[in-house]
Parts: sequence; C-alpha cells; structure tokens
Amino acid sequence: MFKQNNMEVFPIIVPASNKLKSYNFFLVKHGNSLTLIDTGLNTDDCWNSLQKTLKNHDFTLTDITRILLTHHHLDHIGLVNRIVSTHSIPVYAHPYAILVLKRDKEYTKMRIEFFRKLYKEMGCGEIGDKQVVNLRNPIILGEDKKIHCEIQEITNNQLFGFDILEIPGHAPDQVAFYGKECKWLFAGDLLIENIPSNAFIEPDYDGIRTKSLVQQKQSLEKCSSLNVELVFSGHGMIIENPVDLLKERIKEIDEKANKYISIIKSGISTASGIAQLLYKEKYEKQFFNIMSEIIGYLDYLELQGEINKEMEKGIWHYYCN
Ligand SMILES: [Zn+2]
Repeated sequence: MFKQNNMEVFPIIVPASNKLKSYNFFLVKHGNSLTLIDTGLNTDDCWNSLQKTLKNHDFTLTDITRILLTHHHLDHIGLVNRIVSTHSIPVYAHPYAILVLKRDKEYTKMRIEFFRKLYKEMGCGEIGDKQVVNLRNPIILGEDKKIHCEIQEITNNQLFGFDILEIPGHAPDQVAFYGKECKWLFAGDLLIENIPSNAFIEPDYDGIRTKSLVQQKQSLEKCSSLNVELVFSGHGMIIENPVDLLKERIKEIDEKANKYISIIKSGISTASGIAQLLYKEKYEKQFFNIMSEIIGYLDYLELQGEINKEMEKGIWHYYCN
C-alpha cells in the first residue's frame, strides 16, 4: 500500500508467466472516492485478486466509484464487463479507445483495410495477406470482448484530482493519470521496468498511420520532464524515481534507429526484407509486433530526414539520404 497526502494506492499485481511478469491494476482512494485504474485481463486470477485486495482493505466491489482506463488493450480492460454487470459505475477512456472498445463496425472495417494496404506496400506478400485474413477472425476481432456499458470520454486536462496526460505510442489512445501532489504517475504501458514497451502501428480516426515510435519517444520525454517519483506501471515492478529509466528507453530508441540505418545502407530496402533479415522464422510468428517495430523505425528515420522512400511496383523502398 502507498499513502501520501490524501491519496492511497492499493496495487493489484497478478503474476504472468510471460516476459510481462505481471498484470497490474490499481485501486486509488482519494478523499471519499475509490477509483479503479485499469482492470487486468478477463480471468478468474485477476477477478480473485481484485476481490482479495478489496477485502484486505475492508472494501467491497460496491465501494468502487469509477473505472479509469489507460488504453484499450485486452490486458487492461478485461474485467470491465464483469465489474459493471454487478455494480454499475461510470467507465472513462480516451475518445480513440471508445471505437475499439465498442467494436465499431465502420472502424473495424477501416482498420482491416488499413493493414491490408500497409502490408502490401511494405512488401509482405502472402504472409501479409494471411495476417489480414486473421484480422477478420471474430476471435481476433474480439466481438465477445466488446465493452457493453456506456464509456465516458476523457477530454479534460484534469479529472478526479488527476492531471490527464496524453501519452500515445504503445497505443494511440494511451493516457496517464498524474497525481501531482504525490508525484505519482499511472502510466499504463509507457514504461515497463524489465522490457521496452512496444510502439504499435495503428490507424488514427481517419485511417492515417500513427507515427507510433515518434509518439512513444515524445511521451517518454514528456514524462521525464515531470518530477515523477513513482510510476505505477501496467506490468512488472512499480518504478521508483523513473527518470533514469525513461532516459534509458529514449536512448535505446536512437541506438536501435542507428542499427536500422546500417541495414538500409547495406542495401536492404523493404520493410519485409528487414524483417526477414532481423527476425528470420520469428517474422511470420510474431508478424504484428515485428512489422510494427520496423515500420515505426522507418517512419521515425524518415521524419528525421535520415532516409527517403520511393514506390516501385506498389512497394515502398527505403534509401539512406
Ligand atoms: Zn499491457
């Protein structure tokens, strides 16, 4: 438990058997309210951990005042339906997240078309087509994971005693909740102690590709300029005095960018070519993550004026300037 001024945080840490180490979400008591920030996965493990944490601190589910979501990923929104079906409370998320959480039909259609075109232009050929077929799979679409209740848009700079910071990169709709008086930052997956957070390529509202790595770097910089003392991270450890780690993550981006420059200089010009060289058989198995990373770096380097692209027979080729 963490206590300072009139804020108390009760972390719910659910162990994970993968490199994320744990799924974390947080009960925050602030004055008379009890806010739940994120909700873990939709599993009995997460549900039981929530119940146990509530009980250990003499709360019940009905004491929760509201749910705030840092971003739309399934490991952060998992218990929303279970909670609100027994205890109807308001749920808040960034406006971008709402289309995804509601599985908006037009948005889903646009997203599939976005990836079909993107993978084609990145030279992914049949492997890319296969991924697009998968995107249409109802299990991947997660129809059953749709949020049923109404979701309130987070549009203000402040909400329930938190400063709201937009920190896109890992997801276009990622927000952080900053308790300024305590210098505590609830930052979703912006900063994870043991691994760099992935910056995922996604379309924005208008179907335009987000520059996810550029955004990720800006979000890391934004948070390192604050005087944060504790980062309540979505996975792994709660991070004390995060500035050094934030700076390290920013440095890692530039080091990796240099690696991409050398590969392009060596004559490999397409995103799929880079993926095959770097990731070999992992390329197909972890396609979405790998292509997100590579396209993210190509966009980043292009914006910095380090590389240029040219379309040849419908495929983008990248060259060093
Ligand atoms: Zn996560």
